[in-house]
Amino acid sequence: MRATKIVATLGPASSSPEVLERMIRAGVDVVRLNFSHGTAQDHIDRATLVREVAHRAGKDVAIMADLQGPKIRVGKFEGGKTVLEAGQRFILDAARTEPGDNAAVGLDYKDLPRDVRPGDTLLLNDGLLRLTVEHVLGDQVHTLVMVGGDLSNNKGINKAGGGLTAPALTAKDMEDIKTAMSFQCEYLAVSFPKNATDMEMARQLANVAGEPWRHKPALIAKIERSEAIPVLDQILRASDGIMVARGDLAIEVGNAAVPALQKRMIRMAREMDKIVITATQMMESMIVNAVPTRAEVSDVANAVLDGTDAVMLSAETAAGRYPVETITQMAAIALEAEAADDSSIETDFTNKRFGRIDQSIAMGALFTAHHLGCKAIIALTESGSTALWMSRHNIKVPIFGLTSQLLSQRKMTLYRNVRPLLMPKLTDRDEALAKAESLLVERGVLKPGDTYAITCGEPMGYPGGTNMLKVCRVS
Ligand code: PGA
Ligand code: MN
Repeated sequence: MRATKIVATLGPASSSPEVLERMIRAGVDVVRLNFSHGTAQDHIDRATLVREVAHRAGKDVAIMADLQGPKIRVGKFEGGKTVLEAGQRFILDAARTEPGDNAAVGLDYKDLPRDVRPGDTLLLNDGLLRLTVEHVLGDQVHTLVMVGGDLSNNKGINKAGGGLTAPALTAKDMEDIKTAMSFQCEYLAVSFPKNATDMEMARQLANVAGEPWRHKPALIAKIERSEAIPVLDQILRASDGIMVARGDLAIEVGNAAVPALQKRMIRMAREMDKIVITATQMMESMIVNAVPTRAEVSDVANAVLDGTDAVMLSAETAAGRYPVETITQMAAIALEAEAADDSSIETDFTNKRFGRIDQSIAMGALFTAHHLGCKAIIALTESGSTALWMSRHNIKVPIFGLTSQLLSQRKMTLYRNVRPLLMPKLTDRDEALAKAESLLVERGVLKPGDTYAITCGEPMGYPGGTNMLKVCRVS
């Protein structure tokens, strides 16, 4: 049983029912719909397909809607592109309406001239091109090309060290939130948040848009801006989880700073009982090759050893040649890393302080299951939080989150080492305990003679009501 979860991005390579079903069977836990591409209808269709196919495959799959966020981009070119040479000058012109050429191009992001100063470094096309700002003249940013290359239509612009003032939520994002709520995505990922307020705003918009369905998604903050790093704890508090969005982050803070930041983010998220997804280029070479590089294998394994909840695939599954194989191989790497005894994640929780009854019961279950060698830990949970607390610690015993809430069940698909199961809502405690055991026996997880630890609340069925731990033996 694999503890680390896999998030796979859908795209042209993975939108046929056949491929999607094979991907889900190969191990996808969460599907990511990238709102940077496609129309609202495309996303609605894909979401419907995911629900259908997951149902057919008998698997629980959550949907993560990933908002585009502010796209700071150049405009279009005459003929689609130009080639910039190191040493030449190039103008980014917010007022330009005609197509670009080798001397200048228009801008989608009109505020750029106000956000830059002479000496600033601008990185274009995923950081492949590097321009130094010489001066700003009205709407024009005059630059010197330091590293040249191909520059085509609508390529992204990043500023080294951060400092672009574009708000995290655009008018398009607000529309996209409504679309995402119409199919009740379990996770909403916010691109380029700078602070906790960006996340609070997104949550408010999502909750309002979800009102007709009484739907409240979990929020993931994509950490991809320099400004987000010093306020990471505040962003974490305002979110349900974070994504280590290494693509944009690497451009802003420099490639070399990312690995240590990734470790810090994983550690902080776990300490604060939040979810963390490690993303971007994890199996990049599998876009074209049938096997990953050694470096990619190490990258995935290291994120797993550090305690990430999930590893994510982007172009590998959206546009790659081997979407199914990539998942199969990623799952195998994660499984083997988990089995090794070299994890750096915390096993000791004796020195942690818990003020809450439910949280203390969750820890008690871990302690007991560990020492008694239980086969499973079962959390009867409404919101999923008992399972989440349990999953923040490194324990080899699998955790089963049993809930009567479909949303809680699907949210738990992302929690490391948690297998969510849906069960009927029962108000009688003994009946619920018997039902839980029979569900796990049916699934072959438990057999006669096995011991397991189970937590629940009495009276049953209130979120935050967990106050009981029982150790049972299957008869
Ligand atoms: P993106 O986010 O794929 O939406 O850009 C992830 C990243 O920047 O790494
Ligand atoms: Mn990004």
